[in-house]
Amino acid sequence: MKQSEYLKILKLVRTSLEEYNNWGENEVYKASSVGISSESRKSNVLKKNIQKTFSTNFTKYSTSSKEELDNLREKVNSCKKCPLGKSRLNVVFGIGSPNASLVFVGEGPGYDEDHKGEPFVGRAGQLLTKIIEAMDQTRETVYIANIVKCHPMIDPSNPEKRTNDRPPTPNEVEICKNYLDRQLEIIKPKIIVTLGTSSTKGLLNNEEPISKIRGIVKEYKTINLVPTYHPAALLRNPSLKKFVWEDMKKVMHFLNTGKI
Ligand code: SF4
Repeated sequence: MKQSEYLKILKLVRTSLEEYNNWGENEVYKASSVGISSESRKSNVLKKNIQKTFSTNFTKYSTSSKEELDNLREKVNSCKKCPLGKSRLNVVFGIGSPNASLVFVGEGPGYDEDHKGEPFVGRAGQLLTKIIEAMDQTRETVYIANIVKCHPMIDPSNPEKRTNDRPPTPNEVEICKNYLDRQLEIIKPKIIVTLGTSSTKGLLNNEEPISKIRGIVKEYKTINLVPTYHPAALLRNPSLKKFVWEDMKKVMHFLNTGKI
C-alpha cells in the first residue's frame, strides 16, 4: 500500500476516534464491537463511520475474496448441472460483503429474484432487509445467498407466472450446494443463519421441523449456524416474528462477544 493511502486511512480513523471521544469511552467500546452497536443513535452514527472507513479503504485492499467470488459467479452463471438451469431467467448467485461475518442462507430464488437476479428482493426479502437493519447491519455488511441458485418452479414452462414457486428438491440441493460451500469457504463467516426448512435441512442433513430446531446453535463445517424461520413464513404468520427476533438476538450476542 502506498504511503498516501496509509495516511488517508489514518486520517479517517483519527476523525472517527475524535468523534468517539466526544461521546465517551463506553460508547466507543459499544460502537467498535464486531458489527453490533448499541441502540443509541449516537452509537449508530459511530458505527456507520467505522463501516464507511473500512468499506472505502480496507475492503478496497483485501480484494481476493471479492475476486474469488466474482470468478465463481462467472462459472455459476453458465451452470446447467440440474434441471433448474433450463427454466431460470437469471442465476441468483448472492449479494453482500465478500468478508461478511454473517451469512444468511435461504432456500432458492422466487419470481422476483429470478427476474432481478438478486436474492430476497420480493416481499419476504423486504422483511429480511428490515430484520438485518434491526440487527444494526445492512445488506452490504452481511452476505445473502440461497442453497440453490436458480428458481425452482412448479411449472417450469412458465417463468412469467407468479405463484409458481416451489421448494427445491433434495437432488437439486445436493447438486447446487457445492456452490454455496465454495461461497462460504471464500467468505469465511463467523456465523450462518439458515432461513426455513430447505436450507436448514440442506446444510444440517436434519429432518427436524424448523419449529423444533430454530434458535438452536449448530455447526456447519466448523462455522456456527443458527436456523430460524423463513421471512415468507413470517408474512403468513406474523406471530412467528418474536421467535426470529429471539434467534437474531442470539446471533448479535455472538457477533458482539464471540460467545455463543
Ligand atoms: S440450481 Fe445450481 S446446479 Fe442447478 S443449474 Fe442452477 S446453478 Fe446449476
